[in-house]
Amino acid sequence: MKLLEYQGKQLFEANGIKVPRGQVVASAEEARTAAEALGGNAVLKVQVPVGGRGKAGGIKLIDSADEAPLVAEKLLNMEIKGFSVEKLLVEEKMDIAKEIYLGLIVDTDTGNIVMLFSPEGGMDIEQVAEEKPEKVFRLVIDPTSPPPFYRLRPFIRQGGFSGKLLNELTQFAYNLLRLFLERDLLVGEINPLIVLRDGRVVAGDSKVEVDDNALFRHQFEVNFWEDSDELEKEAREIGVTYVKLDGNIGVIASGAGLGMGTMDLLEEVGLAPANFLETGGGITEELMYKATKLVCKNEKVSGLIINLYGGVNPIEKGAKGIVRAIKELNPAPPVVVKALGNKQEECWETLRSGGITVVNSVRTEAAVERLVELMATQKQ
Ligand code: GDP
Ligand code: MN
Repeated sequence: MKLLEYQGKQLFEANGIKVPRGQVVASAEEARTAAEALGGNAVLKVQVPVGGRGKAGGIKLIDSADEAPLVAEKLLNMEIKGFSVEKLLVEEKMDIAKEIYLGLIVDTDTGNIVMLFSPEGGMDIEQVAEEKPEKVFRLVIDPTSPPPFYRLRPFIRQGGFSGKLLNELTQFAYNLLRLFLERDLLVGEINPLIVLRDGRVVAGDSKVEVDDNALFRHQFEVNFWEDSDELEKEAREIGVTYVKLDGNIGVIASGAGLGMGTMDLLEEVGLAPANFLETGGGITEELMYKATKLVCKNEKVSGLIINLYGGVNPIEKGAKGIVRAIKELNPAPPVVVKALGNKQEECWETLRSGGITVVNSVRTEAAVERLVELMATQKQ
């Protein structure tokens, strides 16, 4: 998952990487308020998941808050490299003395991490590497024994820095590396890393990509789903993970792996999931009731598969919630529940007496097959 600049900067800030003061906005009026808070001297930056926004006209400097609404209006109506602009980051305008490049990437060939550093930042690192290869420094990092602070210092010193600035830049490199390793990032880049005229250093931009496969392992300080739709917002309030997808089969699973597996099996028989929903370990009757209702609010849903494992989860209580939700739906889609674990018999009994199809096989394939049958009979 690629983060937008402002999300990456939130992550930076929470991890000791200094960023400019600023605020993300979605309207011209909000832009004015944000610019006022910065004393009028501001930069407005379009938030799209691609670089090169400066060259594409997506970054504008203003001198007074009065300019903000008009400039913001223009930017919000732009399309940058195929992305329509929904949000702007309004930041303090910086008095730039120097732009530096600092980045971490995964070398997929070796599995190592490479830190790249160049005193000539601001533009594409590929371009610097091509034109002035002697100005790009590479440090191969073994993720199992990352370099301590004092090893990074000589690496950064190659850029011609010394004294307080050298220490400050090393601190950025160290904090970025720690963040990268702790959160399984795939890309963590600061370009430009800005040295201000007053000597301070701040991350002028962020390019962060999180490994989707590792998302479940971390508690990020960033709300990735801020721009998500109503159902996704509602899901957060309920306390479940919900991602809307394009298909028509609702999916509810008690764990991420179980959910992914279910989705794969649906796709194998030519069905497409309408969503991914993971309850986590907090199943209650109420939570299952709300989750079932939520998934079925998506008008596309014409079948529902629920796959639960009762370890810590009281699936017999969850069953009551499912029955209650389905009874209230009119029309209700065909539903198949596979639930295994603690008190499974009680769970099945509740579901069956509530008119819901239960598959008591350990194989999710069986549940998928049953759903296909139910959907076919309903069509007739
Ligand atoms: P990108 O083009 O999408 O990578 O966006 P960046 O955030 O890297 O900004 C591109 C360029 O805009 C930077 O390299 C800076 O030269 C310039 N820029 C961004 N913010 C400021 C600012 O506050 N003041 C000034 N003077 N220039 C800025
Ligand atoms: Mn940049």
